[in-house]
Amino acid sequence: MSVLWTKDDLVKATGGTFSIPFTSVGKGISIDTRTLQKDDIFIAITGDKNDGHDYVSKALQAGAACAIVSKKITDLESNAPLLYVDDTFKALTDMGRYGRSRFRGKTIAVTGSVGKTTTKEMLKSTLATFGTVHAAAGSHNNHLGVPLTLARLPEHYDFCVCEIGMNHSGEIAPLAALAKPDIAIVTEVASSHLGFMKSLEAIAIEKSQIITALSPNNTVLLPEHIYGLQIFKETAQQYQAHLQTIGTSSTADIQIDCIDLRANQSKFVLRINHHTISFLLSSPGEHLVRNAALVVGAANALNLELHNVSAALATFKTGKGRGQILPLFPQKGIVLDETYNASTLSVKTALKTLNLLAPKRKIAILGDILELAEHSKQEHLSLLPDLLENTDLVFGCGAMMNIVFEQLPQSMKGHWCASAQELIPFIKPILQDNDTLLIKGSNSMRMNIIVTALTAPA
Ligand code: ATP
Ligand code: MG
Repeated sequence: MSVLWTKDDLVKATGGTFSIPFTSVGKGISIDTRTLQKDDIFIAITGDKNDGHDYVSKALQAGAACAIVSKKITDLESNAPLLYVDDTFKALTDMGRYGRSRFRGKTIAVTGSVGKTTTKEMLKSTLATFGTVHAAAGSHNNHLGVPLTLARLPEHYDFCVCEIGMNHSGEIAPLAALAKPDIAIVTEVASSHLGFMKSLEAIAIEKSQIITALSPNNTVLLPEHIYGLQIFKETAQQYQAHLQTIGTSSTADIQIDCIDLRANQSKFVLRINHHTISFLLSSPGEHLVRNAALVVGAANALNLELHNVSAALATFKTGKGRGQILPLFPQKGIVLDETYNASTLSVKTALKTLNLLAPKRKIAILGDILELAEHSKQEHLSLLPDLLENTDLVFGCGAMMNIVFEQLPQSMKGHWCASAQELIPFIKPILQDNDTLLIKGSNSMRMNIIVTALTAPA
């Protein structure tokens, strides 16, 4: 891999001072020695639980090009390559800003209560048809993830795709200002993190802040049914951004029509710029149609050839824990792996996909949705109609899912346990050929161990 950061750029970006006369350069950026690659620049970030300064020696032994530090490190040789700065977190942010400012390609930022990573990955694979793409790793979307994505951005690439997240008010605007997107996508406004955010209106206001970082005439795309559409419209007007809606009604700017949802694929057409273009997705679920329409809207704003976009989207597959379909084992059947995370909306969406997938028995295995605080009981109970409509049998784990479980008719009750581990022995004996299982819950409910137990070893 070629040089990402020269010594001069590092000093210009951070204002730091090198410990030794230094010529080597960094090919990547790392803040975690567990994933550090040879020739990465290691930034010693001080977190709540760990201090990166305790890992500098390990980083250099693992082949880091240098380490950016704000404290003296005692157990190092005198010629260790260090860049001293006042504040390592500020250095990372400054490097992100510098990385973005030298980039001449197009930047697309994705925010929203659900579907950010899925849409980011769709954009990444679609844009790769048209040029070089740098995208956020995983769900890197916070005060560390966004500057890290930008600091890792190769300056000669064509596209950069950022994911911007939040769980408290005031987080989107500074991250958007760093990313300076040419195009912004807002996937949804829903009750994720409602415990911190208090109301859907507060969430819509927070998400709308992504528009504040757009230059005049740049485009923001969102679903026409999004909660708080007026808030987005007003912010777009204030910042002279071009707002485009996607949706099925005739008033949507980009119209989705002829939606045909099947277990193994979805087909739809988009009416855009007075053209009608057909699309096919090879992963199932209505939510993916909406995400894909947002991706097409972004490609359209970038003046890309939409028939090539259609060809690229046809090969997109959902990722691990976000709608990946795995074979049930040893029985013949399928598992919809949704264990990466859960919000009320994404559970309801996944239940619809379960229904779409399963001509035979539909089994939902659900763990608690976290970060809902005083709204938790009501949000969990709101799943009941979706469970009744889309499932035959339900297994639950966690205190909140117990409340839902108790409300189900006896014939739909599989079993409930406090933890995922305890639940496994109750699920295994009842499985039959042709069962379809949805497994989902908030990340810390560790529902992924149920997926591992019920699918063939990779
Ligand atoms: P996080 O905040 O945890 O980073 P995210 O916003 O990146 O989440 P994804 O990981 O892309 O979200 O998706 C999480 C789940 O949300 C998916 O597995 C799917 O069930 C659901 N989902 C994805 N897109 C949508 C959508 N447009 N509408 C509703 N649900 C969706
Ligand atoms: Mg994400």
